[in-house]
Formats: sequence, structure tokens, C-alpha cells
Amino acid sequence: MSLPENSTQPHSLTQLPARGRPRLLSVVMPAFNEARNLSWLLPKLVEELAPHADALELMVIDDGSRDDTVMVVQGLIRQGLPVRLLRLSRNFGKEAALTAGLDAVEGEVVISMDSDGQHPISCALQMLDRWREGYDVVYGVQRGRRESQSPARRLYTRTFYWLMQKGSRFELPADAGDFRLLDRAVVLALRQLPERARYMKGLFAWVGFPATGIEFVPDARAHGETSFNFMRLLQLAVTGITAFSKVPLRVVSALGIMVSLISVVFGFWIVFEKVFLGNEISGFATLAASITFLAGVQLLCLGIIAEYLGRVFDEVKRRPLYVTQDLTPSLKRASDAGT
Ligand code: UDP
Ligand code: MG
Repeated sequence: MSLPENSTQPHSLTQLPARGRPRLLSVVMPAFNEARNLSWLLPKLVEELAPHADALELMVIDDGSRDDTVMVVQGLIRQGLPVRLLRLSRNFGKEAALTAGLDAVEGEVVISMDSDGQHPISCALQMLDRWREGYDVVYGVQRGRRESQSPARRLYTRTFYWLMQKGSRFELPADAGDFRLLDRAVVLALRQLPERARYMKGLFAWVGFPATGIEFVPDARAHGETSFNFMRLLQLAVTGITAFSKVPLRVVSALGIMVSLISVVFGFWIVFEKVFLGNEISGFATLAASITFLAGVQLLCLGIIAEYLGRVFDEVKRRPLYVTQDLTPSLKRASDAGT
């Protein structure tokens, strides 16, 4: 398995500090209607992760669930599991929930994973191994994702990455998602990013740090169904592009220059035709078609500019990204007891 490492940051393993067992390992889990999944996933996580860190903290962010998620998590906390609960006041979306979780965790190492059990725990342990080797970011790469997609979807994905990548200095690893491990230093860096447009994958890449990827095959969702349909993915893609790339704006300018040039050439051609070939100027159909075509192009360009303007509008309002109802207090750590 050989994946390209962040090419923007050349480094070799020998330069990276080897680390021991983390003192506190935090897991951030955004949850929206995941009661049935969390009831088995949290105990399993405790069982499998606890031996690998001095202390464990499973931070569940309830993203305004309408089922028993809160009750289930509170029940597990009462049973003594090292689980913390952060309740958002309504459904803010996964990206905001993830941000809320990253703002609240205290671990030396933080792993973000879904609450539906699709992210294999064995893979989280592999991430921890890479962290011990010295990497600050370890992202999960979904294996076989490309192959399972339709050609149209693949084209869409490829265009998206091309747009995102064009002109940016940082590498956005393809097929990497929100399943990843972050060192505390990275979490602190992420907390300093003030923007409202939370395209987490882009933000993770933007902060930099020595990064590496590991492949994983997502498990099937145990209960419930995905809340990301095509429209939501498209929305996320537009957020990603308008927050990270100016390519669409440059395309608009280029289009303007191109159309102007074509119309000048066409103008000369009409004069030439009339003067030298003696052809009568005709063509209502041509005129109608070009006017409607250009009106379309203009509206499209306005739409693109409006997307950016909307982004600016969201940013200047400076509303908080999420509103919390309450957060359970920090866990009492074994190491604290002695002091
Ligand atoms: N999620 C969330 N808020 C939302 C939608 C989803 O916190 O509005 C959580 C959800 O509970 C899960 C994760 O985000 O833990 C991924 O969601 P899902 O499984 O629906 O997406 P997919 O796995 O298809 O990407
Ligand atoms: Mg899922």
C-alpha cells in the first residue's frame, strides 16, 4: 500500500519524532439520529481503544437528533463509560457538529469518526500507529470508491478536485473524508480558522502538518440510512469550491474575453461579406440565437459571482457556527486523581 504523502511538506520518517502512548485519546463523533448505532458502537470503542491510551474520551456531538440518541448516550455515561456528550440546540449539519466536537475535546490525539459504525475501529488503531511514528495527520482513504462510482459521478468528482486544487498551494488528498486522526497541535490550528464555510476536508488540508493516508473499506451502516443525498453533496461541493478556489471567477473573466474576441472577428466578417462578396446582411435566426445564448452565459456568470457574494454575506454576519445546549464536564482522569 503506497499512498502519496503530502507533497507540499517533504519529510522523511527519520525527521519525525517517535511518540509513545497518548495520555488522553479523544474520539469526536457527530451523531444525528444514531441511537441504535451508538448503543453498540460506544461500548465496543471503549473495549478496543482503552488499552492503547492512558485515558479515553469519547465525545458524542448530538446534532439535534430526533430519536433517543441523547438518552442512550446519557445511559452509557451513567454506566461509567468514558463518554462525554455535547448537545447542539438543533440540527446544524455534520460539518458544524464536527467543529463543535473539535472545539471541546481535550485529547493529545483526536480521532474523528462517524457514529454509524462505518469507520472500522481496526483502522483507527492503525492511524494511532502512524501517529506514534510521528505523523500529525492520518486520513482515511476509502478504497474502491472510484471504481464503484458511475462515469458521470467520477467526472463530477474529478472536476471538483481539479477546481479545488487549481492554484492552491496545499494538497487536497482525493477520496479522503472526515475519518481521520489529528494531533493536538493540528486541532489547535483548526480552532484558529474563523470562517463560517466549514468545508472540513479543505480546512484539514489547509492547516498542513506532516500527513499520511491509510486505506480502509467502509463497513455497511448498521442501522438507519445516510443523510447525504446528491443535492447535499452538491451543496458541499459548492461550499468547498467557493471557499477555496477562485478558478470559477477567472473562468468568467476568460469567457468574457473570449466572447468579445469572437464578436469582433464576426463583425469584421460581416463587413467583409457585404463589401467584397456583396452578400446581403440577413439572419434573424442567427441574431435571436446569439442574443439568447449570450443572455444565458451572462446569467450563469452572474450566478457564479452571486455564489461568492453569498459566501461573503455569510462570513460578514459572523454568526456562531453552532449553538450548544450543554456539555458534560471533563472526565476525571486517572492521572488527575494522584495530584
Ligand atoms: N451527521 C450529523 N449531522 C447531520 C448528518 C449526519 O452529525 O446533519 C452524522 C451522522 O450521524 C454520522 C455522520 O455524520 O455519524 C455521517 O453521516 P452519514 O452516515 O449520513 O453519511 P455518509 O456515511 O453517507 O457519508
Ligand atoms: Mg455513514
